Amino acid sequence: MTPRAPLVVVSGPSGVGKSTVVAEALRQDPSIWLSVSATTRLPRPGEVEGENYFFVTDARFDELIASGGLLEWAPFAGHRYGTPREPVEARRDAGQPVLLEIEVQGARQVRTAVPGALLVFLEPPSWETLTARLVGRGTESDEAVQRRLAAAREELAAAEEFDVVLVNADVGECARSLLAWVADPTGIQRGRVPGPTDGAQTPDARPPDE
Ligand code: 5GP
Repeated sequence: MTPRAPLVVVSGPSGVGKSTVVAEALRQDPSIWLSVSATTRLPRPGEVEGENYFFVTDARFDELIASGGLLEWAPFAGHRYGTPREPVEARRDAGQPVLLEIEVQGARQVRTAVPGALLVFLEPPSWETLTARLVGRGTESDEAVQRRLAAAREELAAAEEFDVVLVNADVGECARSLLAWVADPTGIQRGRVPGPTDGAQTPDARPPDE
């Protein structure tokens, strides 16, 4: 029996640039499959059903949970998000590496549910970069931005639970690191991978003390 293809989880706070890094990795290697999540939030302008997400009702999400249809799921900023189990297993069984782009609580569940999965935490170069991205992307209401910033504070503290922490200072570099790990998740050197502009400094993405 051929072993299942790798499962790599990319996590980190909202606004850190997970989707940009993942999109760049897929552009460089289209043979990888990115899982499409189910969510109860409404589509943003331009988002496409079945491509960005499966946009579902609360009742449908309840059904998915009850039937064991989700590999992991979590509430986030007032909505629920989850990874459909079956397509992830089917792709891996067929030999195709799978990427998940999910928040931290879901990543923890994958750690338990899929022992061989590789967990990558994407960290911003600084707290200021993260807040600027979250506020600047202009896709959320003020209230939603505040909820995401509050979640980001908690999520940043989870970095050390991950197999590897990747500082998102350069999208291309991060994508290349990710692809190397997808190709060989066992060859990874665990710990923190600083971004190219960090030099000798230790990046400090923690929010300032209150
Ligand atoms: P957004 O609303 O900005 O698309 O996503 C909000 C957060 O939910 C992001 O951190 C995103 O990575 C995360 N997310 C997206 N899909 C899933 C999923 O299937 N499971 C979990 N746990 N988080 C997800």
